[in-house]
Amino acid sequence: MLQLKAYRISHFLPSLGLLAAGLSAAYVRDLNVFFTSLFNVLPTLVVLLGGAYCAVYKRQRELFLMVTVYTAYFLLDTQTDYYRDNGRVRDDAAVIFHLCCLLLPMLYTLYGFWEERTHLGQDLLARLAVLLAVGGVALGLEQSFPQGLLAWLADIRWPSLHWPWMNLIQMSYPVFLIGFGVLIALYLHKPRPLHAALIIGLAGLFWMLPKTFILPFTLNIMCSQVMLMLAAAVAHEAYQMAFRDELTGLPGRRALNERLQRLGRNYVLAMTDVDHFKKFNDTHGHDVGDQVLRLVASKLAKVGGGGRAYRYGGEEFAVVFAGKSLEECMPHLEVIRSVIEAYVIHLREADRPQNDQQGRQRRGASAATNVSVTISIGVAERQPEHRTPEEVMKAADQALYAAKGAGRNCMMTAGNQRRGAVRNANAA
Ligand code: GH3
Ligand code: MG
Ligand code: MG
Repeated sequence: MLQLKAYRISHFLPSLGLLAAGLSAAYVRDLNVFFTSLFNVLPTLVVLLGGAYCAVYKRQRELFLMVTVYTAYFLLDTQTDYYRDNGRVRDDAAVIFHLCCLLLPMLYTLYGFWEERTHLGQDLLARLAVLLAVGGVALGLEQSFPQGLLAWLADIRWPSLHWPWMNLIQMSYPVFLIGFGVLIALYLHKPRPLHAALIIGLAGLFWMLPKTFILPFTLNIMCSQVMLMLAAAVAHEAYQMAFRDELTGLPGRRALNERLQRLGRNYVLAMTDVDHFKKFNDTHGHDVGDQVLRLVASKLAKVGGGGRAYRYGGEEFAVVFAGKSLEECMPHLEVIRSVIEAYVIHLREADRPQNDQQGRQRRGASAATNVSVTISIGVAERQPEHRTPEEVMKAADQALYAAKGAGRNCMMTAGNQRRGAVRNANAA
């Protein structure tokens, strides 16, 4: 039935902000001493603080991503420092740079894609083993066969696919391309802030590498920004865990309590509850019940009139209208009530057909069941007799109780005024 994957632009905003800040800072010429000193210490500062932060939250994936970015920064910074001081590159500059162009996107994608396992100790060892093995082999080859390695890296294997704008070694491009493909697929499969940050971070690195020796502080700035994106994603997810309800994606009870403390003098609170939901669960199963809660939440999230919906708990939702009167809010709540009432949910039979032929026959014979649910609403506004949010909430709750008593699928105000249709109170 319904599929509600939560792709959100807000997942990308912190990373995009950091990327934009990084891009604009990198293009500033003639930085003063303050910024020069800042950019020199920034990556180390970020990796220490960000790494400690990830370690405290036991986020090994992000920790290893930071270590990967920092290692590349460290290797390349040694080269750019030498170049700045001496006006020419070090002898091993080409081979180190090319290795970074290949291994940085490779390890970044690998660690980004590699989700944490339950055994944190084993997970840590496995990640460390990969880093040491790749680093060890690269270092060994670089020390033993520098010329051979350089020739292998710099080789243009597919001349017809080599365009003039390509400033990195040719092999780096398919690795970046695979990296983008994998990370975008990861976000589409599991939309969450970290997966969004991984894509933008890879874009930042892709932009940074060709400019490493051209724009003075590109390396310092972009490596810091990418590590900050990862740290910001960890913070974003921690915030979501605390304030968002996982099932519906709506802000949860804690967010509601916080909002209630910041309401002004005029506001309206509505409590809504799905009618006969226990029976619905019993008839169609808990999983279908969960999907219906997500559906109801998605409709409530669109409530007009400046209302904000929260999952109060179970199948109850609260809607807060700040700075509004009862008359202003009620039409919007009524719209939601009737939209939910009118929404027909197509359920497929729980016992799915075993084979295609059977499936076709069943579908031909209409294997779907149509169901719908309704909600009851209790609404109260702040008044001299209900001064605190808790009192207004209690009044809304009583109104909800009255709406249930009046036959469900309707709205009641705290003064027990009834609005809305009462139709087919038995939702199942
Ligand atoms: P009423 O019309 O009086 O509200 O009847 P009701 O059956 O909806 O009321 P009641 O409060 O007795 O039942 C609430 C049910 O909601 C109980 C529980 O099975 C279900 N429920 C609560 N939270 C969830 C959830 O997260 N997922 C699912 N599927 N069901 C839930
Ligand atoms: Mg209930
Ligand atoms: Mg109910």
